[in-house]
Amino acid sequence: MLIKDITGYLEKLAPISLQESYDNSGLIIGSPQTNVEKVLITLDVTERVIEEAIFEKCGLIIAHHPIIFKGLKKLTGSNLTEKLVLKAIKSDIAIYAIHTNLDNIPGGVNGILAEKLGIKNTKILSPKNGGLIKVVCFCPSNHVENVQQAMFSAGAGNIGNYDSCSYLSPGTGTFRALEGSKPFVGKAHQLHKEEEYRIETIVPEYRLANVIKAMVQAHPYEEPAYDIYSLENKNSAIGSGLIGELEQATQIEEYLQLVKQSLGTKYIKHNKLIDRPVKKVAICGGSGSFLIDAAARNKADLFITADIKYHDFFEHAGNMTIADAGHFETEQPVKELLYSLLKKKFPNFALQISKESANPISFL
Ligand SMILES: [Zn+2]
Repeated sequence: MLIKDITGYLEKLAPISLQESYDNSGLIIGSPQTNVEKVLITLDVTERVIEEAIFEKCGLIIAHHPIIFKGLKKLTGSNLTEKLVLKAIKSDIAIYAIHTNLDNIPGGVNGILAEKLGIKNTKILSPKNGGLIKVVCFCPSNHVENVQQAMFSAGAGNIGNYDSCSYLSPGTGTFRALEGSKPFVGKAHQLHKEEEYRIETIVPEYRLANVIKAMVQAHPYEEPAYDIYSLENKNSAIGSGLIGELEQATQIEEYLQLVKQSLGTKYIKHNKLIDRPVKKVAICGGSGSFLIDAAARNKADLFITADIKYHDFFEHAGNMTIADAGHFETEQPVKELLYSLLKKKFPNFALQISKESANPISFL
């Protein structure tokens, strides 16, 4: 299979444009046109993972963390990143990263983590600013449904747990068909008035091109009129962390034991345990201390993430328990997620989860 077919599918689910500005997701080493026989899925690219890819004849490594984060100015093997990049290139191994773009979608890193931790009815903890577009088009009344459906199917009209969201208002369109035109209604060189509907709907930026294409194809006019407006609204479907509820309020010690078990965490670092059962839980796989206040604002009883600094443990003590369950541990379900997503789409293609993808942190 061509690398671009595999990565193209992943980018439909988690578009590259959803990554954070500091990130470097996407194809990092290799050509999209290369044919690969097998894919290796890992959290990190290490020397042992590259060796595993060579041994298992995997031409493509799909990793969560990008192997190159900042620019490289030389490739002399003088540090670990340069060494790994050289080794991958020499061994003809392509490397792809799906990082914060997978963090920022509800079915991504935190979606699988929520599933593992029994957290239901989730919503994005900190929705992303911008990235939403309003599309308005004008359509003769008997074609409204067709055009709406085409736009919805291409990704327009989703707000929270609702789809097919739009607003219709009737009005009158005017136009005059000039030389060379083939008007759907009206006569050439005559001013025409047509009863039309104004269809307004909302589209995430990364779906805009698809939605416009679908609308133009479904629209009966030769030259459909439409407007595209950038919005300042937050996009509730895209952003960092998730918050949801446990099926039953559970004693916090009991629930944290469950978290430990299901993530295979040796220790959970936490601040003061709240003296009430846990019902509302916020999560962010990997480094999520930037979401502590958002979790508290959303009235979480417990916030589970990783890489929490000493001083952060003082925050919200008594109101919300903050638990550090480990970076590797909270993110490692990603490997299973990528495996199952790819397996579903390409059932006959060879995929493997790395056996060498390991936590760099040990405990004494
Ligand atoms: Zn991470």
